[in-house]
Amino acid sequence: MTTVEMGIPTVRSSPSLAGRPDVPHLVDRFGRVARDLRVSITEKCSLRCTYCMPEEGLPAIPPGQLLTTGEIVRLVVLAVQRLGVREVRFTGGEPLMRADLERIIAGCAEKVPGIPLAMTTNGVGLEHRVRKLADVGLTRINVSLDTVDRGHFASLTRRDRLPSVLAGIRAAVAAGLAPVKINAVLMPETLSGATDLLQWCLDEGVELRFIEQMPLDADHEWARETMVSADRLLSVLGKRFELEEIGRDDQAAPAGLWRVNGGTATVGIIASVTRSFCADCDRTRLTAEGTVRSCLFSDTEIDLRGAMRSGTDDEQLAQLWRGAMWNKWAGHGIDAASFAPPVRSMGAIGG
Ligand code: SAM
Ligand code: SF4
Repeated sequence: MTTVEMGIPTVRSSPSLAGRPDVPHLVDRFGRVARDLRVSITEKCSLRCTYCMPEEGLPAIPPGQLLTTGEIVRLVVLAVQRLGVREVRFTGGEPLMRADLERIIAGCAEKVPGIPLAMTTNGVGLEHRVRKLADVGLTRINVSLDTVDRGHFASLTRRDRLPSVLAGIRAAVAAGLAPVKINAVLMPETLSGATDLLQWCLDEGVELRFIEQMPLDADHEWARETMVSADRLLSVLGKRFELEEIGRDDQAAPAGLWRVNGGTATVGIIASVTRSFCADCDRTRLTAEGTVRSCLFSDTEIDLRGAMRSGTDDEQLAQLWRGAMWNKWAGHGIDAASFAPPVRSMGAIGG
């Protein structure tokens, strides 16, 4: 096994396949099969959310180390056709920061028709691009919005861009990307605004999903004691809304769901910290630099970019990817005394 130190995580060029059954799919030692691919396409972002990015942004990836449009499309097609991936989500950083986003989506839509192509975005500037994105093949969208209070938004994201995000969400609904889902990560200072956020989402006909804050902030300020847990959030929401628990929306992306005020609308909570769903995880991740990560919290990555650029064929690339996932660990272990956050922060991995 060759190991190349790149300053950030440990990047390996050939993972061990010892003990792996000879099957095409992305199986691991714990019986899981990865079918949901998250592709980060940039480290750049128009916001600086405190639970994600440092104030000055992430160090820029040198242009030659970023996957090109063609390389992203090639790896997505390979993942679908050889590895059994069934859903692809583009993320970052902020995917809208890439001028070739439409070409990336169009290229994938053309080569893997029928596969859902989704995007997670902060919504800044989305208003002007969402119709074209839907036209070229984007099928699903999640927009991140933590508060509808302009002052809170500006201090949390270090940018005064709330009007642009709200316009982007409305434009996504108008473009027919149903259902539009809203991701919210609550911090203690935005918890009191959770009910206004839910009311706004109910009024706009979009589905709100809260996500517990994970220890993936670049500033390493996450603390278990101050993190807003699912239980704490439910007690705040319960003061204004009647909530009836109705189960999970998907075994592998398990938002617990609650019916709101006896109607058809639901609110979800993804309790990634207090109710870990690692045992059901079906995700595999590609970073903007072209390395495979088997887990958000793992610091070991397998380099596909270097392999691709030195002429490795699709089946050999697929085998490297299988090896990366075969070595996936059981879970993040946030509760273990030995837990250490990964070197990459969320914006450099792709959430
Ligand atoms: N920039 C896009 C956005 O904000 O939607 C895509 C990238 S962002 C890293 C993807 C998702 O990760 C967002 O919904 C964001 O709220 C979430 N996220 C970022 N840092 C997080 C953290 N420390 N814990 C939990 N979720 C986090
Ligand atoms: Fe940017 Fe998304 Fe991270 Fe916020 S969560 S800083 S929008 S990458």
